[in-house]
Amino acid sequence: MISANEVMGYGLFALAGMLTVALVLLAVVLRRLRGAQRQARDREAEHQAVLDRLQENEYRLRAIIESEPECVKLQAEDGTVLEINPAGLRLVDADKLEDVVGKKIYCVVAPEYVDFYRENMRRVFSGESVVYEFKAITLRGRVAWMETHGVPLRDARGTIYALLGITRDITEHKNAEEQARRHQTELARVARLSTMGEMATGIAHELNQPLSAIANFARGCIRRLHADGMTPGELIEPLEEVCEQAERAGEILRHVRDFVRKSELQMKPLDINQIVRTVVKFTEHEARQQGAFVRLDLDAGLPRVQADAIMIEQVICNLVRNAVEAMADAQWSRRQVTILTRLIGGDVVEIEVGDSGPGIEATIIDQVFDQFFTTKPEGVGMGLSISRSIVESHGGRIRAESGRKGGATFRFTLQASDQQASGHERADSLHC
Ligand code: ADP
Repeated sequence: MISANEVMGYGLFALAGMLTVALVLLAVVLRRLRGAQRQARDREAEHQAVLDRLQENEYRLRAIIESEPECVKLQAEDGTVLEINPAGLRLVDADKLEDVVGKKIYCVVAPEYVDFYRENMRRVFSGESVVYEFKAITLRGRVAWMETHGVPLRDARGTIYALLGITRDITEHKNAEEQARRHQTELARVARLSTMGEMATGIAHELNQPLSAIANFARGCIRRLHADGMTPGELIEPLEEVCEQAERAGEILRHVRDFVRKSELQMKPLDINQIVRTVVKFTEHEARQQGAFVRLDLDAGLPRVQADAIMIEQVICNLVRNAVEAMADAQWSRRQVTILTRLIGGDVVEIEVGDSGPGIEATIIDQVFDQFFTTKPEGVGMGLSISRSIVESHGGRIRAESGRKGGATFRFTLQASDQQASGHERADSLHC
């Protein structure tokens, strides 16, 4: 029999055992808890360190941007300025951030460049990096030329959320360029005038001799006709002299024409797309001032053409200028010039300059290539006539068409040379 004391002893012993197990378990739980707490603290510290590093990086980036001498800015798709550095504020003559941040960038873009600016914004928001020049009018009304290098900024999912633009003032450079261009044009004009002057003096001098001789022999004939007893046979010799001298005069003129032709045409195999791009560069300033777009649709991989670069530039330049002038009237809200190149018939390249202007009336379309034909108050009427001579001297043809709803199109052809063009780019499109 187990006594009550023994039962109590066993009970106490079991209780002590259970307590010991409970205490051991508690100790284990506590240790794990402490471990977990330590881990959480470590993780928090790590997280904080990452945050600190991020913040430090942001401060550093901000300090770099703030001290950057060029304007750095972020713009939303609708043109709202999201951020701008102090150099940017100085560039647009702003006193404080609120003058610019939250406002549309178009406030400082010259009106004739707003469409152009929008087009570049669209390109950046479709993923392209672009460099574009535009005229700006600062908050104090100062006119300046700027160049922006715009790149798309993407979030973690790759969505473009802003344009990052670095802009610099290129006014001085632009003015110098403009001055050089004017100087060059003036030089070319003077050179042309003096060459023409010299040539005219030379021709006059050369022609003077046969013309005086013709006059003398003709007068001699008249004298003989008045004299008594004159026989017709006596007139043969002086009249033969007249014919000879007239032929000599003709010969002089033929030489002059040959000389002009030879000295003007310097035929070489050319990349016509390159010529078009050069012309767009020349004329872009004028086109922009009239609020016109020039769109290029150039056939990549065209063969080279056999032509004189300067002369063909002159033709395309005339056509683009005419197109821009035709659309200058305020009623044409969409002012677009399209220059297109294509291969026709295997070895002929066609260049087309079309516009969205009023077109050409059917009653005058046959006269537009005539010398001195013009419908412009300040026109001379020589542009198309010269263009036709140039194209024809290259063995090509030029023609004009007018759309039923307006819009004039001029097309001319050039013969492809045997050599293939190299390094063509794909068809592109730009605004100027
Ligand atoms: P100018 O420009 O001095 O008038 P041009 O020989 O270049 O001389 O042009 C002759 C005429 O042809 C112009 O006055 C105009 O009437 C017409 N013309 C030329 N290009 C266009 C065009 N793109 N759209 C409408 N008319 C045009």
